[in-house]
Amino acid sequence: MSAVWYEQQQEIKNPTDVGNFVMGVLNDTVVPTLQKIKQTYTAPPPKQPKDLSNNPRCPRCNRPMVLRDGKFGELWSCTGWNSKESPCNHSMDNDNGMPVEKPAKKPVETSNFDCKKCGKKLIWRKDNKGGKHNKGYSFFGCSDFPKCKQKYDEVNGEPKYD
Ligand SMILES: [Zn+2]
Ligand SMILES: [Zn+2]
Repeated sequence: MSAVWYEQQQEIKNPTDVGNFVMGVLNDTVVPTLQKIKQTYTAPPPKQPKDLSNNPRCPRCNRPMVLRDGKFGELWSCTGWNSKESPCNHSMDNDNGMPVEKPAKKPVETSNFDCKKCGKKLIWRKDNKGGKHNKGYSFFGCSDFPKCKQKYDEVNGEPKYD
């Protein structure tokens, strides 16, 4: 038994002394430490998940949608894209801050002319890229493309059959 411990034991004679002793130890050690922690530690603001409850809802799965910067400008995308159970990657165009369904692709209009090779209707097409042919090169292609690669130059709005 050390001398210090012995002296302290001698001091503790009644419950009040015990309390004083404990408080003394606390004041000497724990309290300053706590104060030090308080001074140096500033809690970061609690991370709150963004409140999306007022966001427009996905028409497919009813999850909130978020506005993102996409390759082709802003677009609304469903927050269910990374869901494991029921993923939803629905996306919509942005119209003044509101999601709108993307315009459906126009069905290709076929002409009244037939493909002489397979009998299917021809589609009047224009080469707007100006790649192989001159820009604006106009031709009739088979509607069964890519199965049938038949095509005819356009002359006066009609396919030039060979
Ligand atoms: Zn969705
Ligand atoms: Zn054809």
